Amino acid sequence: MMPRVDGGATPSRFPGRLDSSRASNSKIMVRQPVIGGSAGEPPKPPHTPAFTLGGGDNEQERLDEELRPQRLDDVVGQRAVVERLKIMLNAARKRKEPLGHLLLDGPPGLGKTTFATVLPRELGTECQITSGPVLSAPKDLLPYLTNASYGSILFIDEIHRLPHTVEEFIYPVMEDFRVDISLGEGLNARTINMRLKQFTVIGATTRSGMLTAPLRDRFVNREHLDFYTIEELADIVRRNARKLHTKISEEASVEIARRSRGTPRIANNLLRWTRDFVDSEAEGEITTALAQEALARREVDDLGLDRQDRRYLETLIRVFGGGPAGVQAIAHSMNLAADTLEDEVEPFLLRCGLLQRSPRGRIATAEAYQQLRLAVPDPDSVEKQKRLF
Ligand code: ADP
Repeated sequence: MMPRVDGGATPSRFPGRLDSSRASNSKIMVRQPVIGGSAGEPPKPPHTPAFTLGGGDNEQERLDEELRPQRLDDVVGQRAVVERLKIMLNAARKRKEPLGHLLLDGPPGLGKTTFATVLPRELGTECQITSGPVLSAPKDLLPYLTNASYGSILFIDEIHRLPHTVEEFIYPVMEDFRVDISLGEGLNARTINMRLKQFTVIGATTRSGMLTAPLRDRFVNREHLDFYTIEELADIVRRNARKLHTKISEEASVEIARRSRGTPRIANNLLRWTRDFVDSEAEGEITTALAQEALARREVDDLGLDRQDRRYLETLIRVFGGGPAGVQAIAHSMNLAADTLEDEVEPFLLRCGLLQRSPRGRIATAEAYQQLRLAVPDPDSVEKQKRLF
């Protein structure tokens, strides 16, 4: 069934934070959707700069923006991904064609938005940004589609959270650059077929497994971002300390990197915290001792586990006897959303071998007990207990 777009739909707000400092000089006009328009004065099109960020305007986004690399050469790590993207960019430039649609997946804070915003800068093209949960109906997507100029980029963050109706609406957009709009009802029903300029959709997801196969298949290019090495994170800490006009010793950068759970966003946040700590409690350069003290105050342990990670493992061990336990049950006990655990907590615990996933649920490993300084249960006594019940 074709998705219906309500007549005269005018988005009450064009969701977006304006990042004028980083926007290119060109401006895009936000045209109002011209579907089933009611008679009368056409609404005045608001101006938005080339980079428009939608879907939540919070403090973390502002902080990310401040330290975000601006060009592909400033991006640290992910070498194989960077190389492939460079090839795609070169080919697109040579052929003077838009990039193929690109899907970026990986845990939060690994650089999906960074890559998505660096690419249009490299191409000197416009970029509109929105996110899956903001697009509750096809009409919410329409202004972005009609705004999209030839070769521009539409970045959809959290694309796995697009509602089904919007997802169906986007298929012909991605494939043939057209939208099918049904207007009116009953005998008066009509279908309008609107052609769009050829542009590129960049989708980002923390859960590529949740994408439907038809949507995934429409992305000709797919890149998975993996956790960063300590050396790469130390490089990011050093570069960003310079951006923040903060002196940091070589070893202190490595200390922060070591506890950043393989994630640049966490490295940035720990760097900021350490800088605040040093400015408040000491003076001068961030040394290893000061970094250690700052991170201990923030309750980040030697592996980089924070309070939430430890609470997860403690719940699994104390409430569920170490597992196997379902993520929903753990989430209920912790009073958190299962999504948060699956996206933000589990990937790193799995990666560093503190957690196992089995068909019957999550299991804490012996290393998890050691990390929390808890006695590892004797497998024989566990078996006996199981037999008793
Ligand atoms: P995601 O969209 O995957 O959640 P972001 O792209 O917003 O992650 O990255 C969060 C922050 O981490 C960025 O603002 C940037 O400062 C930093 N960052 C991410 N990836 C890199 C990278 N490859 N090199 C340097 N900094 C990075």
